[in-house]
Amino acid sequence: MMSRGVHQALYRYLPGSWVDFTQNGVSYAVRVDSWNSVQLTNINNKRLLRVANQRVMDFRNASPAGPMAVVGFPNVINEENCAVLTPKVSEQIGAIRTSVNPLLFVCDGCGKVKQYYDYSEFRRNEHKRCECGSHFKQLRMISFCECGYAVGLSPFCATKEHGRKYIVRRGSGLDFVCSKCGKNAVIQRNCPECHHKLEIKAALDSAHYFPFTLSLIDLLDKRKDIFLENETNGQGEKIVIGQYLALLPKSEYKEIIENGKMTQNDEFEELLRKKAEQFRNVGIDEVTISTLIEAERKVNAGVKAFAAIGQVEQGLSYTSNDELKPIAEEILEYDELVHAKVILSLEDAECDAEIVNDGIKPDYVGIAKALGFSNVQICSSVPIVFAAYGYTRKEREPSNEGVKLHGFPQEMEKKNIYATRLETEGVLFELDRRKVLNWLLDNGLIQNDDLPQDMSDYGIKMWFLDIIVRH
Ligand SMILES: [Zn+2]
Ligand SMILES: [Zn+2]
Ligand SMILES: [Zn+2]
Repeated sequence: MMSRGVHQALYRYLPGSWVDFTQNGVSYAVRVDSWNSVQLTNINNKRLLRVANQRVMDFRNASPAGPMAVVGFPNVINEENCAVLTPKVSEQIGAIRTSVNPLLFVCDGCGKVKQYYDYSEFRRNEHKRCECGSHFKQLRMISFCECGYAVGLSPFCATKEHGRKYIVRRGSGLDFVCSKCGKNAVIQRNCPECHHKLEIKAALDSAHYFPFTLSLIDLLDKRKDIFLENETNGQGEKIVIGQYLALLPKSEYKEIIENGKMTQNDEFEELLRKKAEQFRNVGIDEVTISTLIEAERKVNAGVKAFAAIGQVEQGLSYTSNDELKPIAEEILEYDELVHAKVILSLEDAECDAEIVNDGIKPDYVGIAKALGFSNVQICSSVPIVFAAYGYTRKEREPSNEGVKLHGFPQEMEKKNIYATRLETEGVLFELDRRKVLNWLLDNGLIQNDDLPQDMSDYGIKMWFLDIIVRH
């Protein structure tokens, strides 16, 4: 239940949003001002921040406003500039700081309007009745702008000395007048930040707040991150992809990850040159020397890794190494799923069922094959990280120049995003690639000419990867 509370907070009670809050039997619209959090540990922060950074960059790059489209984020979201926080669970209410907003109250008898200066003034007068004997009720409307600005509705008289003192509401809508001079009160204003016209909506309407969230499978093996970071020119990503395509043996992939980097080709070549020299010195002939050196090259993991990189480069039509990053990330997540802590395969399930069914063994594997799956397995204890990194108002898409993606208010010495980790169970369905190809053909989505030239398992796998890269 605890982590469920945190999980909900991540989506429903984020800073900058308005929520319903009941205190002593009275409910108010409140604005979530900030959170009271702790560092989230036991997750791979580095990767989460890298993915969040990518998302913020995507928004920025898709907006005509460019760098101006994102507000309240560090230049680069990484461990140096940004903390991963999670609300304090021990004190659920204290974890979220809110304030009653708007501070606009209307007498439900005579329409007299009261606008409190701040929260403490409101608290002092909370239970006072209107002179007419009726109660004041919060008017839950806010003004907001696509740039992110939002404020509780606050009607006032254009005559300066009247201000907010004599405002009365007529009827039940948004018709306010100054009872001193009879003028209609001003409720429509321009945004003080971008000067666009503010829009008015109910405080609890979800249309003025769009949280930006992401979820990913947590990769606990931080060595993979270190490796990806150590390698440049997309080499790390290509090795991850090469491993997925079985272009280098699992043992060698493991070795590379353990070393945190690949052996440099030139280091190795230098070693071979020295070896050849030694062979020459003891009188071995050149033909034998080159055979020996070639054999040496073949068993070297580094060389295999470079060959794998070459094959990946040839097989995928990408234009920049950055395009390989999301695919490498997905492959790492896939690896994590396939090798989850607790796995139940269809074969296991068949055996379990056999015991329950008095020795009659069901054919789950056959059914899965017939349905077009190459593998189905239950993965337990899969660590999923849910994170929230910002919000927009009024619109979600970056295509409008005025829309800005805001980061959350800073709690500690660094900027922050929020996250929580859940261990969950899932079912992994892997489609049979050949059946997918047939389906694509049958439905006219591809033509015979589009089929992989190499129809081996490897060729088909590469073909699908290439399709993903190109889209
Ligand atoms: Zn009244
Ligand atoms: Zn007036
Ligand atoms: Zn604005």
